[in-house]
Amino acid sequence: MYWEKEIETMGRSDLASLQLDRLNHSLEQARRSPFYGKRFAYKAPSHLAGLGDLTTLPFTTKDDLRNAFPYGFLTVDLKEVVRLHSSSGTTGNPTVVFHTAGDIGQWGNLIARCMYTTGVRKHDVFQNMMGYGLFTGGLGFHYGAEKLGVMTIPIGPGNSKRQIWFLQNLETTVVHILPSYALRLYKFFEELAIDPREDLALRIAFVGAEPHSEEIRKKIEDLYNIKVYNSYGLSEMCGPGVAFECECQEGLHIWEDHFYPEIVDPASEEVLPEGEPGELVLTTLTREAMPLVRYRTRDLTRFLPGNCPCGRTHRRIDRITGRSDDMLIINGVNIFPIQIEKTLMAIPEIGHNYLIEIRKENFMDRLQVHVEINEEVFHGTLAELEKLQENAVAALRAELGVTPSVKLVEPSSLPVSEGKAQRVYDYRNEAEAEG
Ligand code: ADP
Ligand code: ZN
Repeated sequence: MYWEKEIETMGRSDLASLQLDRLNHSLEQARRSPFYGKRFAYKAPSHLAGLGDLTTLPFTTKDDLRNAFPYGFLTVDLKEVVRLHSSSGTTGNPTVVFHTAGDIGQWGNLIARCMYTTGVRKHDVFQNMMGYGLFTGGLGFHYGAEKLGVMTIPIGPGNSKRQIWFLQNLETTVVHILPSYALRLYKFFEELAIDPREDLALRIAFVGAEPHSEEIRKKIEDLYNIKVYNSYGLSEMCGPGVAFECECQEGLHIWEDHFYPEIVDPASEEVLPEGEPGELVLTTLTREAMPLVRYRTRDLTRFLPGNCPCGRTHRRIDRITGRSDDMLIINGVNIFPIQIEKTLMAIPEIGHNYLIEIRKENFMDRLQVHVEINEEVFHGTLAELEKLQENAVAALRAELGVTPSVKLVEPSSLPVSEGKAQRVYDYRNEAEAEG
């Protein structure tokens, strides 16, 4: 059940001393980069006496990475670097991340650990539907799956009919897929009159790379009759493999032998007490080419209390509820898009996709949600549609504290992208510019 039993179940005090050793080593390594060399020239203590002392060091931000582009964070000679990856640029210019052969090896091992945890074994067939290339989702899992020894189909995203052909004919048992794509792919099964619950050997999906609610997970599990595990990571740390759900599916274990996590208040920047929600800050403990110290991920979560029944001692974080810069302020009320998603997806008549638009009208913010309905309601009566719309508005008002307008649309009619889903369109600044 464990890929590396000793490390995964290590007692907390042993884990803490391993972390402290690795942290001091990592700080020394970081200082070799132009960026940290300058930053820590006077300020940083040469050796931290305890993990708590890390909080005396400043944060590293995405802007720091951008400003130091391209080589400001590199700690090794270019001849030691074997790979470059880049963040997908969801929120601005991309940032580049370098890897030594050692980094690639560690990363693959972490992915193998994640996959093994959920019961994937050598005899499985793994179809990797994440993008190959600069994005870390494809190659990251690819190398990990090979390390585990699983036959890997490097199919990448899109071309849904071909995906289904492989799923059926190779009897794929495990996939790695964007949650938004898993929902979208279902439509192609319907078109082909194939029942994924009955006609596939599939038993596991790893989903990640974009925020998604527990309701979306349940939906995917039901549609395909499989187990869906949440996979979290970001290019700056390596990519996927930073935190992962175990077989208990109650939160994601952060692999603390490689990453030191903190949760901070994004506004005051204070470290928050255990259990309180805030922004995840990560320090790499083993990265060679590009160690990062107190990196502000902007991802919002909290530590889950208690021990996991699986026996792993690495702390768990809750599902990511969004990014600190995702928050929408609608007429003074703070809203995260994920609140809209989980409310909608809890309504059975709602389909698989939605889109959020915000406009300024008469100096007020107007929130409009476009929602796909399911096939049954689409072919139902007008009265049923009106009722559904009223229910959706009422449920959203109760969750959000503001009243959106809801537009019900045909199944599979909203725009989709091959990469991470873009579901929020905020036109307020454009309106101001026009006015
Ligand atoms: P970008 O920031 O450009 O999207 P990455 O491709 O490195 O760059 O994506 C990492 C980000 O994707 C994370 O910081 C997080 O916001 C999001 N993400 C990754 N995995 C998950 C997950 N399981 N749940 C929610 N969000 C996730
Ligand atoms: Zn566990």
